[in-house]
Amino acid sequence: MNKYLERLDYGPALESDKPAQDWLMGHGRTFGHFIDGVWCQPNAKTYRSVINPATSEAIAQVGEGDEADVEKAMIAAKKAFPLWSKLHGHERAKYLYAIERALAQNARLFAVLESIDNGKTIRETRDIDIPLAIRHFTYHAGWAEIHEGEYPELVPGGVIGQIIPWNFPLLMLAWKIAPAIAVGNTVVLKPAESTPLTALLFAEMLVKEVKLPRGVVNIVFGGGEVGELIVKHKTPWKIAFTGSTAVGRAIRKSTAGEEKHLTLELGGKSPFIVFADADLDSAVEGVVDAIWFNQGQVCCAGSRLLLEESIAEEFVHRLKVRAEKLRVGPPLDKTMDIGAINSRRQYEKIMRLIDDGVKEGAVVWQPKHWQCPPVGFFVPPLIFTNVAPTCTIAQEEIFGPVLVVMSFRTPKEAVELANNTRYGLAASVWSENIGKANDVAGKIKAGTVWINSTNLFDAAAGFGGFRESGYGREGGREGIFDVLKDRTCDISARVLRRAKIIDATVLKSEDCVDRTRRFLIGGKLVRPDGGMSFPISSPSGVLLGSVGDAGRKDVRNAVEAARGAFESWRGQSAHLRAQILYFFAENLDNERERFADLLRRQTDCEAGDAKSVVKASVERLFYYAALADKFEGTVQPVSPKMTVVGVKEPLGVIGIRPSDLTPLLGIVSAIAPAIVMGNTVVAVTGQYDALSASDLIQVVQTSDVPPGVVNILSAANPDALAKVLAEHEDVDAVWFFGGRSGGAVVEAASASNMKRTWAEEYTPGSGLCLPSAVAKKFLRQATQVKNIWTPFG
Ligand code: NAD
Repeated sequence: MNKYLERLDYGPALESDKPAQDWLMGHGRTFGHFIDGVWCQPNAKTYRSVINPATSEAIAQVGEGDEADVEKAMIAAKKAFPLWSKLHGHERAKYLYAIERALAQNARLFAVLESIDNGKTIRETRDIDIPLAIRHFTYHAGWAEIHEGEYPELVPGGVIGQIIPWNFPLLMLAWKIAPAIAVGNTVVLKPAESTPLTALLFAEMLVKEVKLPRGVVNIVFGGGEVGELIVKHKTPWKIAFTGSTAVGRAIRKSTAGEEKHLTLELGGKSPFIVFADADLDSAVEGVVDAIWFNQGQVCCAGSRLLLEESIAEEFVHRLKVRAEKLRVGPPLDKTMDIGAINSRRQYEKIMRLIDDGVKEGAVVWQPKHWQCPPVGFFVPPLIFTNVAPTCTIAQEEIFGPVLVVMSFRTPKEAVELANNTRYGLAASVWSENIGKANDVAGKIKAGTVWINSTNLFDAAAGFGGFRESGYGREGGREGIFDVLKDRTCDISARVLRRAKIIDATVLKSEDCVDRTRRFLIGGKLVRPDGGMSFPISSPSGVLLGSVGDAGRKDVRNAVEAARGAFESWRGQSAHLRAQILYFFAENLDNERERFADLLRRQTDCEAGDAKSVVKASVERLFYYAALADKFEGTVQPVSPKMTVVGVKEPLGVIGIRPSDLTPLLGIVSAIAPAIVMGNTVVAVTGQYDALSASDLIQVVQTSDVPPGVVNILSAANPDALAKVLAEHEDVDAVWFFGGRSGGAVVEAASASNMKRTWAEEYTPGSGLCLPSAVAKKFLRQATQVKNIWTPFG
């Protein structure tokens, strides 16, 4: 009898690597960049070896880019943009369909090449990476057809610089290239230095089979320095980056003030929560997929297993029994569950973190019966128990097959543990009680939550992070907004621009209304902590009053009040938030004469103009109140057995520096959309808008706005306070509508906790009319999409 049948063991089932080796040989195992539709030698004639991580052998040499190569690629992409973007959407769609077909026809070659380049198993490349990449092109071919009709106010911006990591090389390429070119952008993409091969095959396919116009896709190879050259190049209007949070932070800082759009898909430390009432066997299989899929080198890997205490011991036991059966070995063997770690560097990082875990007192377990191949970078499954939530291994992204286990007693504690991380990429929740699972899913801070499932992806469901996992989305309708920009710039906000700035030291004192106005913090009128105030005058020099000059302490107090109010405010119904905004609008309307008079004196404008601004402010409040329950989420059609609900959640505390070009209307235009979506705000006003803002405080107070939802400060140097807001760890986003230099400072400071920023010269849509596209943009900026996946049937 066959010895395998006797032992009921697996026999080897190796996929041949011959087609991939032949393809490499056909190119002499040496490749340059792909620029303007042709292969180019690297300018510096230097090459980097590509290592097969399962054998440690060099299998190819790929050119290393430099400044001249990046420049060449940018020129090609820029040249291609006018024609490509003007092509009818249907024509672009045809190219995307052609890419999809070519990928499908070459699927096996792509799968094998990906395995030998990355180290991941053929089962995964064949069944997950390549089919999902294909799906991405099909889905976005659809957007090529329809985006102009759906979003006529948005246009492609030009060249997008794209940088991807090594864990899903072809899939990440597809996530980046498909949406960008579908809507008419052209791209310069840099694959990770350790996994360039499928990008090379993809480029060849574009020329030979798809016949994509030259310059639409350009691929430059090299390490982080080449990525930096792309980020810093003046040509791209947008940088789309997937990789570590550390590099994402560096990109945020280095692009501050350049008006480059950013999509940052960063790291994660995702919780996998199992309640006692879960189907435990399914949950065990879920853990296998969550942390041992792709050797745990997955940004959204469920690397923190949180177990309800009553089942913790039993669950860990079942998991160990299951993990004993996992097979670690040659990636091209179809019976393997776990392949090789991508590089020596990553292997050493994993080992270092495992050591840290042991030193910190965690208990380590590995299967007894595993055998790793003697060469290559293999790490068998590993489970850490006895882990404190503050341990390095519970906080740092390990990016390897390493699971840490912790326990909880109540759903509340589960949520607290789940959110006890700086990241917010994904989570899994396991319970047969759908009410509880949905409740917990709603409370977890993450861009994707899988209920009774894990690591599921589809092009129709956008993917992206909360908090330090980054911002922007890839895939889905929400991803389309991230590859398009506004068609026109609304400049009607300049209606009440003041003619000149009066130096406070030369103010005339007659007609002075001497009253120092206070701040609104936590629903109360508060004096400046430092006791300082500053005068406000009309452009002609008439002193109108004085307002408080806020400092850091006032900002801290206001943020604390806003944070304290957030959970309760976001928990209110949209109906109630709308009612409060209507009431706010009515109260402002009742005071319209007084506000118009104040604006007239404050800006020396015509009485008619002042009245129009007050009227527009009232209308703005009504308008956003109307939208409160009409900016719905979505249900994504990903599979007949799965509901994916895209929920639009508030960001949290938003720091706002409104435009002062149109006092009153500037601040109303910014705070109304923010609060109506469930955020709380800290607004900082200055010399030109503080007076009307401080009068607005009384209206806020009489309008049933709960204490802490709207906090208003004034400062002689509001831009400096905007920077304090941007640096504050408990502020989730900053909107800065006050000029480029201040915006640059805010963007750079925001990198501390990777908060979202929105910087413009002035409050968009703060002219007398509010285009509905601008209002929707506000609502998009005030929310982040969380996709909740629930299987049924
Ligand atoms: P990395 O940040 O080191 O490198 C990613 C890419 O950035 C590579 O192409 C690299 O060459 C380039 N790069 C490095 N330094 C750069 C710089 N200063 N400027 C510009 N580009 C630079 O990350 P990695 O180790 O390759 O990938 C693993 C990380 O990627 C993990 O943190 C993982 O969570 C994250 N990731 C996130 C997602 C997501 O969708 N959120 C998906 C996959 C991976």
